[in-house]
Amino acid sequence: MRKFEISKALFKKASAIIPGGVNSPVRAFRAVGGNPLFIERARGSRIYDADGNAYLDYVLSWGPMILGHAHPRVVKALKNAVEKGTSYGAPTALETELAELVLKAYPSMDKVRMVNSGTEATMSAIRVARGFTGRDKIIKFEGCYHGHADGLLVKAGSGATTFGVPDSPGVPKDCAKNTLTLPYNDTKALKSMIEREWRSIACVIIEPVVGNIGCVLPRSSFLETLRKLTRSRGIVLIFDEVMTGFRVSFGGAQKYYGIDPDMTCLGKIIGGGLPVGAYGGKKDIMAMVSPEGPVYQAGTLSGNPLAMTAGVETIRELSKKGVYKQLEKKSSLLERGLIDAAKMAGVKTRFYRAGSMFCTYFTDLEVVDYTTAKSSDTVKFSKFFSEMLQRGVNLAPSQFEAGFMSLAHTDKDIDRTVRAAYEALKKI
Ligand SMILES: *Cc1c(COP(=O)(O)O)cnc(C)c1O
Repeated sequence: MRKFEISKALFKKASAIIPGGVNSPVRAFRAVGGNPLFIERARGSRIYDADGNAYLDYVLSWGPMILGHAHPRVVKALKNAVEKGTSYGAPTALETELAELVLKAYPSMDKVRMVNSGTEATMSAIRVARGFTGRDKIIKFEGCYHGHADGLLVKAGSGATTFGVPDSPGVPKDCAKNTLTLPYNDTKALKSMIEREWRSIACVIIEPVVGNIGCVLPRSSFLETLRKLTRSRGIVLIFDEVMTGFRVSFGGAQKYYGIDPDMTCLGKIIGGGLPVGAYGGKKDIMAMVSPEGPVYQAGTLSGNPLAMTAGVETIRELSKKGVYKQLEKKSSLLERGLIDAAKMAGVKTRFYRAGSMFCTYFTDLEVVDYTTAKSSDTVKFSKFFSEMLQRGVNLAPSQFEAGFMSLAHTDKDIDRTVRAAYEALKKI
């Protein structure tokens, strides 16, 4: 048995002075029980806790570490960068460099603005969409998480789903009333709402693959219909690719599904493990952003040189030939292994994957939206999670989170993971 004594003590100490002992709710392990691991270091596919246990890591800081932890190229560049000072509050060439890399990979965007988190990116994109259209209402989909801004904490998946608090106290009704929600993948409901309400709708924001209730794939016609309807009614279509950007493919889900959104939000991977978000879009829309236009948005640390450095190095590494083929190979190896393991262990699961993000649900229903995702047996998941942890595999501590593959995971790592999964599944 692995021991977690030091993590336990650290958690107790933290809980006395940090709400719930953590700086982001899902980290607290409440959905699965037990104490969170306190991490000391990480390298490649592995993460090490304060008790000295090693784990194969499929959380990857919730997505950013696609190259693996402490990638030598990123570490070296950061060491160099830090010597030159850590923040100037003035423009640098690095910001343009990252912007160029992003725009090249996401041709739907003409211009992009850097911020410090995914939350800031979506919040700002919506403000710009409202400024651009002069309309107030937004549409989001049940189970999609777009960060924790007031108007977006409505049926928001992830932490909210895990804790069963879809609407957070502290969000004024007046603020939430402008957020209309629809079931994901429901083209009929979408059509009828847009026909009824389009005059007041500024934008539709969507996770083109829903990673915040596990991994829910869009039906092929759903995104296409969404694009057509929004375009015909002058509604700004925002793809929240904070998770799927550089993850589902180099060009994100928009490249993968062949959709041209008006605006895109990025985060996670583009910061290479440092705090970064970005939002961008068509020229006329982005011309609204201050100081070019009247919509205000700012940030003391936006475009921070360390964060830009980590982002630039990460994207350059991802631009190398064959990288996404490799990721696909690794991810499909894990997919086949996990599906077979569940079959052999006689446990009913549904497995979904888009590029290098994936989820195993403990259900025999097809998962297409929030309701069907919720049919998953979370008690079984919790047992599975703990058994995997004991076997040295770190999964996200909630059924409603995606797993991620990195370039640092070897075939041997994946083989070990699959064997651990088989043993764990037999025990639940
Ligand atoms: C993680 C995430 C966010 C929020 O990003 P933060 O950096 O945590 O603020 C927004 N949208 C999606 C789709 C995400 O996965």
